[in-house]
Amino acid sequence: MLEVFPLGFFIILTYLETRPKVLKQSFYGIDTSYTIIAIIGNKKSKTEVKEMVKESAFRNAQRQLDECAKILKLYPNAHAILRMPMRELHVSLPVRMDDGSIRVFQGFRVQYNDARGPTKGGIRFHPDETIDTVRALAAWMTWKCALLDLPLGGAKGGVICNPKEMSQGELERLSRAYIQAVYQFIGPDKDVPAPDVYTNPQIMSWMMDEYSKITGKCQFGVITGKPLCLGGSVGRGTATAQGGWYTIREAAKECGIDLKKATVAIQGYGNAGAHAAYIGKSLFGSKIVAISDSKGGIYSKEGLDLEAVTECKNKTGSVINLPDAERISNDELLELDVDILIPAALESVITEENAPNINAKIIAELANGPTTPEADDILYKRGVHLIPDFLCNAGGVTVSYVEMVQNFYMYYWDEKEVQEHLDSKMSAAYHSVLNNSKSYKVNMRQAAYVVAVERVVEAMELRGWI
Ligand code: NAD
Repeated sequence: MLEVFPLGFFIILTYLETRPKVLKQSFYGIDTSYTIIAIIGNKKSKTEVKEMVKESAFRNAQRQLDECAKILKLYPNAHAILRMPMRELHVSLPVRMDDGSIRVFQGFRVQYNDARGPTKGGIRFHPDETIDTVRALAAWMTWKCALLDLPLGGAKGGVICNPKEMSQGELERLSRAYIQAVYQFIGPDKDVPAPDVYTNPQIMSWMMDEYSKITGKCQFGVITGKPLCLGGSVGRGTATAQGGWYTIREAAKECGIDLKKATVAIQGYGNAGAHAAYIGKSLFGSKIVAISDSKGGIYSKEGLDLEAVTECKNKTGSVINLPDAERISNDELLELDVDILIPAALESVITEENAPNINAKIIAELANGPTTPEADDILYKRGVHLIPDFLCNAGGVTVSYVEMVQNFYMYYWDEKEVQEHLDSKMSAAYHSVLNNSKSYKVNMRQAAYVVAVERVVEAMELRGWI
């Protein structure tokens, strides 16, 4: 216990210090009171912990909110509530490993704000997972759901583990242990998890099964991202890229670009990037001239043959081995003279150093956080039209919501119905961001915050929280 004391103590202190006065007056009595249910932490020195809190992803998320609060001239009470997660659950998960030993994993679930409805957000299995990242991601899920006008709040979960070093049996026992530990905290009308980094439809199936067993009834709606035969939705696998392209289509109209003649460069050829390439070419007729992965990039002025790129990636492990394509670096790809640039790999790749050299007219952020705040300012002043990440890559959560709806109704939609819904949600969100960007004279990312935060505040007001 002594080992875990410092972090837990520090988190409680941080929490108490930052807890807004308004909560003391009006928030305690009601169901949504801020509650840290249990705190069990890693062994960390006070300095390490202070450093962690100072430089944290969550501090970043708070700073972004602070900036938006200034633009909106937000009431201090509303601002104070939105700066902190509503609830956190910290759990330890004893799991029998294949060699007979017991390992205790640490897990979290953070429900950031449920003013607009049950909370929603993925569960990550990652060796470097921290409560800080989970808090930040839960905040961002709150804004993303509100921006897409989904009747959902934001949440996120995580377990510190390395799935690459675990057998399928160990992963199954860990997934079931997580649900045993959090089942009272989640539920179809409370908080609905989904896959995220290193979790997948198989893990979602085990989790749904465990929750159904504990509650004694079939509960497909407790989790999304499930396989089709267990209540998953058609279109979920390609939803992020597809949704991103609906926003690109609207942005192209705004910028006067004909997508059938447009050239596109995509950084990253994984789930998001590869689907984006296929959808851009097959549905919108655009020419994909450059693609990259972690090893480097390829370029063809005439447009790349995507079947050949995929075959090359599958056979050799990288796109760079494609014969007859010009090799380029990832840095060169970002600065190509193309109509549309789609970062679909890493965070912080567009910085103050390369932002002045970006030639694309539209940047569509399928990746999370590819552009630094300094680069944002430069791009905005240069007139580059940027579709911010929590708008551009919101197709995944939008189809997750559609999966929830189908589970509730026990009635399953076809591809056309799912796509129409996704299109209408993504297009509406894009236009509210664009309109706010024009009326407040702020960049598209700030405008997206404005739309999202205004909606959450309106819900809190109507519920009588502020
Ligand atoms: P992925 O692991 O499937 O693919 C990542 C790709 O990036 C791979 O092709 C990899 O080779 C490439 N890459 C890695 N390092 C690179 C580097 N240094 N330079 C260039 N490319 C590099 O991941 P993904 O699911 O496609 O996610 C990519 C981004 O999109 C992430 O930021 C993720 O958070 C975001 N995103 C994905 C989804 C989704 O549904 N997949 C949803 C929302 C956001």
